[in-house]
Amino acid sequence: MSETDWTQEITDGTGSDGNASAAASELAFSSLPAFVEDFFLKVCLRHEVSAWCPKWWDHEEAVLRLEALWDAFEALRREPGTGTAVWIRDYLDPTVAALTSPETTPFRGCDARRGAHHVGRALTADAPPPGMFVVHTIEDEDASSAETGDGAAKTQR
Ligand SMILES: [Zn+2]
Repeated sequence: MSETDWTQEITDGTGSDGNASAAASELAFSSLPAFVEDFFLKVCLRHEVSAWCPKWWDHEEAVLRLEALWDAFEALRREPGTGTAVWIRDYLDPTVAALTSPETTPFRGCDARRGAHHVGRALTADAPPPGMFVVHTIEDEDASSAETGDGAAKTQR
């Protein structure tokens, strides 16, 4: 058993060559579930909270927030000095607050002790009057990501 220093593995600063496999090998965690199970729940969220769901991956809002938190962690853990402190202040604390406070938690219908798991329905929106908003043309994501090897979303909102 060894103590893990999550901020280690800092690269030598030679810069990124844009190679996806090289970038992946520099990640501290191989997947979002690994980040959540091995770090978020074991290190960041050790205290008793009013809301959490073992099926967090079934709550889209939680997945969105946790994925953004992981992305920010992977970027900021490489920043010398204040990177981890900035991540805690600007990303971890607001994410924990949003996921666990009674007013905002996406897990409000869940209770792990009773085995309850409820995913709320998405809110609806009526279509706006025609011509009220500009409609942008969005390039074909499949074609562009296949050409560049970049899976990042290219939509504009
Ligand atoms: Zn749930």
